[in-house]
Amino acid sequence: MSQTLKAVRGTRDLLPPETALWNRIEATARAVFARYNFGEIRTPIFEDTSLFARSVGEETDIVSKEMYTWEDRARAQSEKAQSLTLRPENTAGVVRAYIEHKLGETGQLQKLYYIGPQFRRERPQKGRYRQFWQIGAEVIGPPSAGSESPLRDAEVLEMLATLLDELGITGWTLELNSVGSAADRARYNEVLRAALIPLAPKMCADCRRRAVTNPLRVLDCKIPEDQPVIELLPKIGDSLDEDSKKHFAAVIVALDAAGVPYTLNSRLVRGLDYYTRTTFEFAHGGLGAQNALLGGGRYDGLSEAIGGPKAPGIGFAMGLDRLVLTLQGADQVQKAAPPKVAYIAPLGENLNAAALVLARELRRAGLSVELGDGSFRLKKSFEAADKIARRIVILGEDELQSGILTVKDFATGIQTKVPRAELAAFLAR
Ligand code: AMP
Repeated sequence: MSQTLKAVRGTRDLLPPETALWNRIEATARAVFARYNFGEIRTPIFEDTSLFARSVGEETDIVSKEMYTWEDRARAQSEKAQSLTLRPENTAGVVRAYIEHKLGETGQLQKLYYIGPQFRRERPQKGRYRQFWQIGAEVIGPPSAGSESPLRDAEVLEMLATLLDELGITGWTLELNSVGSAADRARYNEVLRAALIPLAPKMCADCRRRAVTNPLRVLDCKIPEDQPVIELLPKIGDSLDEDSKKHFAAVIVALDAAGVPYTLNSRLVRGLDYYTRTTFEFAHGGLGAQNALLGGGRYDGLSEAIGGPKAPGIGFAMGLDRLVLTLQGADQVQKAAPPKVAYIAPLGENLNAAALVLARELRRAGLSVELGDGSFRLKKSFEAADKIARRIVILGEDELQSGILTVKDFATGIQTKVPRAELAAFLAR
């Protein structure tokens, strides 16, 4: 016997009725984004590997350990094979598209959102997959369009609070920090590097390496034994210059005015190199170890880092898989899809075609209808219908000739005779 094939480790199939919840979340997100004047962008699922190396950062876990990368076949012998990567996140792709399509030349702020799968070779567990979905958005543009304004940061955070509320997610928390400008970060990196010289030998192998290559990444370390050491390290807030401090203060004033609750967390530097100034994370206690619902921040130098014009921006990505888990855990949603309006039961195979015509009429009238099969006995039709529909419509030879159909309501047990012309209206009630 041949071995049965399964979905690859870390990937999974999404089936109905659960997909109804996925769709509801996506529809809510689209509706909220539209109210804030965001438009949808769809970028390719794979990109040139160097895009991620230059944006997310060579030293990050994502780029150094987790990417699905392969050498594409060279088209000609003289050509070098191109290194391609399944996108591990979508901001880099959006900014690449912004540069490629010269969106900065419009002079307008670009407000773009995306919904799609991302790929990271992480250790799978509840809430962490190798193919997962993100809903994200970016606000990016030339400085003349106001892209650096702290108001943009506050507006994005306020939008996220609104979106989570409208999704019915309660009990979320928002953590906020500023990692400063590129110059602040460079200064902080040196302060950290110096502080780590005596401490690093006591830390994990990854931290010992990061202490030399990219000290900021030490703050992302999740190893419990390293945490007391990390607590002793200098805080990034002390390395911010006046402009960065003013920017962060203005974000906070606007957030306070909008009544969005948050806590400050000086260790929140986020696992991607491109962040500058504001960084944030929304978490939810119901998720367990993988409790981050979404994360984001400002990336004022990203466009230039990948060869584009100056285009400051701010964005976020939320884990759709985790939104689904949160809503399922809170038991705020019906797991089952809503029952169909009606089930049509043809009495005999010779009535199958007529039943298809009746179903077509009702569906075109906007009703959700399940079509039975004339080979079923009436008892079997009733059993099948009772599981999925509110009512059963019986279509026999007599009904077809007279144009009067028999409808039984499962909840009340009442049987009604309904003229065909009035059937759609009757069922819609
Ligand atoms: P990041 O792009 O790492 O900032 O992640 C943003 C959000 O995506 C996180 O807060 C999670 O909700 C979600 N996420 C990241 N990695 C995974 C994963 N492997 N599986 C499921 N969700 C993820």
